[in-house]
Amino acid sequence: MPDYRPVDPRKSPRFAGIKTFMRLPHLETTEGIDFAVVGVPFDTGASFRVGARFGPEAIRSVSALLRHYNEVLDVGIFDHCSGVDYGDLPVNPGYIEDSYEMIEEGLEPLLDAGVVPVMLGGDHSVTLPELRAVAKKYGPVALIHFDSHSDTGDKRFGKKYTHGTPMRRALEEGLLLVENSIQVGMRGSIYARDSLDEAREMGFDLVTTNQAFEMGLEALIKRIRDRVGDAKAFVSFDIDFIDPAYAPGTGTPEVGGFTSRETLRLVRGLDGLDIVAYDMVEVLPQYDPSQVTALLAANIVYEFISLIALGKKRGASA
Ligand code: MN
Ligand code: MN
Repeated sequence: MPDYRPVDPRKSPRFAGIKTFMRLPHLETTEGIDFAVVGVPFDTGASFRVGARFGPEAIRSVSALLRHYNEVLDVGIFDHCSGVDYGDLPVNPGYIEDSYEMIEEGLEPLLDAGVVPVMLGGDHSVTLPELRAVAKKYGPVALIHFDSHSDTGDKRFGKKYTHGTPMRRALEEGLLLVENSIQVGMRGSIYARDSLDEAREMGFDLVTTNQAFEMGLEALIKRIRDRVGDAKAFVSFDIDFIDPAYAPGTGTPEVGGFTSRETLRLVRGLDGLDIVAYDMVEVLPQYDPSQVTALLAANIVYEFISLIALGKKRGASA
């Protein structure tokens, strides 16, 4: 069985080689792998700053720093799983519906093979075709959505598909188990008093940043876990969930958010849930002069992969 793992930085220095996620081999294979990191360099859905098309490249570049052992979760990732950097899916810049078809089709071989895709956006509009592909394989899934925005808007400039509408569209298209879905981190100015209630009326559980801090991180983790239960889940992580002091490189930043440490704790709290796909979206390198945003995004993706490894470890010992 093939066993794909990163290049060992003690044998080849980190700055050497072509930049793939975590220095994994760049292979468009579905054989012998548990996960695949997949770039989705599309940002035509953005409503303010553009540039998330360069997100995958920036995250890959700094991910060369990541080491194999997750000390907090106590797991040696590649002792339990195998993974590749699958490269970027094809997209058509400026043409969102064409790109949606290309993204959905591009993910199908991975999902058909039972591989967990870990997508690097791109703006948040890419989550809709990802969910279409996932639902085609697994049926509707629970959504665990970290974001400072609920992305449940209806139309922008008269159009249905933007980075502000994917969660509403996913629900309309029957891609979500809404009773198991939760949105966390909403904050900042909104259009109207009832803007967030709209998402709740659609059926989402929605925890604002203020509510999250009132209940505390441990209670929040429990709330997510109770909500998702045994359902198959999709984790969608918009980097603007995190405070712009830690993650300035993004398109629609909102102040007063989570720190990087709090975020890592939250993501680790998802251990044991049945997560079938992940994405990390809205990283904009041109607003990220010190690469701190990309570095944080890479480390959160590293936690995603660690969760996959923990699942494999547990499965092997069960
Ligand atoms: Mn978003
Ligand atoms: Mn957002």
